[in-house]
Amino acid sequence: MKYKDNYRLKGLRKKLVETVRAKGIKDERILDAIENIPRHYFIDADFVDWAYKDIAFPIESDQTISQPYTVAFQTELLEIKPKDKVLEIGTGSGYQAAILSYLGAKVYTIERQEKLFYKTTNFLKDIGFGVIRTFLGDGYLGLPMYAPYDKIIVTAGASEIPGELVKQLKTGGIMVIPLGDTDIKDMVKLTKINDREAKLEKHGKFSFVPFLKGVNKNK
Ligand code: SAH
Repeated sequence: MKYKDNYRLKGLRKKLVETVRAKGIKDERILDAIENIPRHYFIDADFVDWAYKDIAFPIESDQTISQPYTVAFQTELLEIKPKDKVLEIGTGSGYQAAILSYLGAKVYTIERQEKLFYKTTNFLKDIGFGVIRTFLGDGYLGLPMYAPYDKIIVTAGASEIPGELVKQLKTGGIMVIPLGDTDIKDMVKLTKINDREAKLEKHGKFSFVPFLKGVNKNK
């Protein structure tokens, strides 16, 4: 098995948990997930120590693994309960999906970069997260086949709320989406009240790679 963990890296993970906690994350289940999921598996093996800094980091296809604090923050806003059916837009490294799965959610995740999609799908199986259902596609369209979802999380920066995603959310469901016209996005929590109404709340500023349309088969 090419994925190896050790006490030194476990120690770095504990420190990362304390950093994320100090920034305001309170949900112990999320902190526990960060402590137990080896984030260094999700990035290039030459950069192991970088996995335990609270920063985003480059991955395949010019994309990034989100910052641990951002992952924790979005997850906390989702109010995950075990068995929640969750749709993630932007699989990327698979780290956010693994955190959601660790919390007991049934995770469906979509990636638009074909090469990254295959790499992450195989990788998640290799590290024991094969229960996560991965899909190659355009997240703007959601995944109607398995709708409705209890929760939807968008992990790329959007300039609009995709109507299809709101449609695929259950009444009472929560969608967390970084939203805005510039590079720095507002973290928006949308709660669906009924088919015509939703409550929107802003929860601070974050930066993300862009939410792009279509599937990229080249990289
Ligand atoms: N959740 C990821 C974060 C990856 S960055 C992680 O934990 O590592 C955001 C990802 O969203 C990128 O991989 C990008 O390719 C993907 N993305 C952007 N627009 C998309 C779209 N329309 N559909 C699906 N994925 C998209």
